[in-house]
Amino acid sequence: MNVIPIEALSDNYMYLLVDEKTKHCAAVDPVEPDKILDHVKKLNLKLTKILTTHHHWDHADGNPKLLEKLEEKIPVYGGDDRIPALSNKIGQDDVIQVGDCLNVKCIFTPCHTTGHICYYVTHLNDPSVTPIVFTGDTLFLSGCGRFFEGNSEQMFDNLMNKLARLPKETKVYCGHEYSVSNLKYALHVDPTNEAAKQKLEWAIEQREKNERTIPSTLEEELSYNPFMRINMENIQAKYKTNDPISCMTEMRKEKDTWKPS
Ligand SMILES: [Zn+2]
Repeated sequence: MNVIPIEALSDNYMYLLVDEKTKHCAAVDPVEPDKILDHVKKLNLKLTKILTTHHHWDHADGNPKLLEKLEEKIPVYGGDDRIPALSNKIGQDDVIQVGDCLNVKCIFTPCHTTGHICYYVTHLNDPSVTPIVFTGDTLFLSGCGRFFEGNSEQMFDNLMNKLARLPKETKVYCGHEYSVSNLKYALHVDPTNEAAKQKLEWAIEQREKNERTIPSTLEEELSYNPFMRINMENIQAKYKTNDPISCMTEMRKEKDTWKPS
């Protein structure tokens, strides 16, 4: 299993998910099809599937253009009828196979949009391969997506009941490079969080070198991501509540207008 991150637009990430055995690959959110096809050609891969996390244009609008440029038609997966060129609508626990070896489980995570899907990938016959998850605009490094079409109950369910219960070593590949500003926000919420301090220092260095900060792991997210730490007493106290859902509501409201200094 191999993941190739490809930068798109100003701060989006597209990905190629590659089955090393067959060289078959799936494109995740291929908003810039030419860049995707350059990589496919250069690496001698065969693109067999498109996985879309959600219908927003900066994730989904490359689908029709990518299909036009291919010699054979390939399926376009997603959880929302608004996704351009959608052919295979999927939902919670549906499974997609890439090549011979990769098992992709769909995790339905409505809130940022009502049809958002995260894709959890494991190796079919080698349990020693570290699993990965593509989280689109649901979970970012040290953050979460805005609640455009949902509420705090749903995001709590997405982050704490669905994603946090995957194996802790799972690598997280998100939809945008927002890490530096998200980690600054984590320290605004939780100023003494050592994991956030260290990750921020590292993320700033990475960005100065023009390098990516992804992937993180779920274990790391649980250590610094404030939206996954809404069960912690010190964080609830900051928002004058002892309820994780209202903590999530207040935090998201604050973050919507918060700017790092
Ligand atoms: Zn979005």
